[in-house]
Amino acid sequence: MAARGIEVLLLSVGADLPYLTGYEAMPLERLTMLVLPTGGDATLVVPRLEAPRVEEQGDAFALRPWEETEDPVAIVAGLAGAPRRAAIGDTTWSAFLVGLQAAMPGTTFSLASEITRRLRARKEAAEVEWLRRAGAAADRVAARLAATRFSGRRERDVAREIGDMLVEEGHDTAAFAIVASGPNGASPHHEPGERVIESGDAIVADFGGRLGGYHSDTTRNFCVGEPPDGYREAFAVLQRAQDAAVAAIGPGIAAEDVDRAARSVITDAGYGEFFVHRTGHGIGLDVHEHPYIVSGNTAPLEPGNTFSVEPGIYLPGAFGMRIEDIVVVTDDGGERLNHSRRDPAPVE
Ligand code: ZN
Ligand code: ZN
Ligand code: ZN
Repeated sequence: MAARGIEVLLLSVGADLPYLTGYEAMPLERLTMLVLPTGGDATLVVPRLEAPRVEEQGDAFALRPWEETEDPVAIVAGLAGAPRRAAIGDTTWSAFLVGLQAAMPGTTFSLASEITRRLRARKEAAEVEWLRRAGAAADRVAARLAATRFSGRRERDVAREIGDMLVEEGHDTAAFAIVASGPNGASPHHEPGERVIESGDAIVADFGGRLGGYHSDTTRNFCVGEPPDGYREAFAVLQRAQDAAVAAIGPGIAAEDVDRAARSVITDAGYGEFFVHRTGHGIGLDVHEHPYIVSGNTAPLEPGNTFSVEPGIYLPGAFGMRIEDIVVVTDDGGERLNHSRRDPAPVE
């Protein structure tokens, strides 16, 4: 903060706050905010009725509960003083920022991720361990799915079952489940719906949950009966692309070079226009966080970075496919945290 001329850090809803304090703000209209001045003592401003949820850590921050009739924005502005520059959490509600801008007219605000992204992107051993456990739990769900009946069921019913499995296999909560069958597979973020899965469908299942605060996120593919024309050929390309991206990972490698490793395989095989998204995203307390594995991100990878490697091929009107593993950057390469079968599992 000092090096960047930031005099105070303001954190509310989002993962930066629990990263630093262990406390997660409720995403509601009452303001919760950590006020952390450079070189000063930190204060957590919290609604009185939510104060009992806070595990106090006197050596880290003081607690300032506010009553229903108080103005929390004025309290935060008072604690912040009149800094020239403040950094505020990226996902803080606009309602709070607009209030603070009015209460602190001499202050320029910038994004807290400038300060926190590199801290959070470099996972400590204990964080990698949570991600490893979450990944193993997601792999057990993938293995169960390979023995699950898909045909005759609606996508949304399979998605609901995946949510149950995520918890049964050890996640604290299920976070999301995409089940995209047949032509729906060509929509990478398809919302599972009423479509009834039938013989001849290729299915993309992308799911994850939260364990100890950390996320899993994996994508696997399933085929009911014979896959559609062209599927096997495209899948062989996709598998080579995903392997090439994982092989490219290591400390000092630019994030965009991992994207390029996957993309060049897919492009050279003629499917380039059908790989419509970046190769991956960082993962940790958030499902999507820094570093992003995308063309233009020249930042070098560091040991302890954790992110997804998830190239896909999406043929509109026909089918889609994606292979997604979480990978941790080690001292000399990359290690996958997902190990369930990557080739399409035949299912009923
Ligand atoms: Zn996605
Ligand atoms: Zn995913
Ligand atoms: Zn992902």
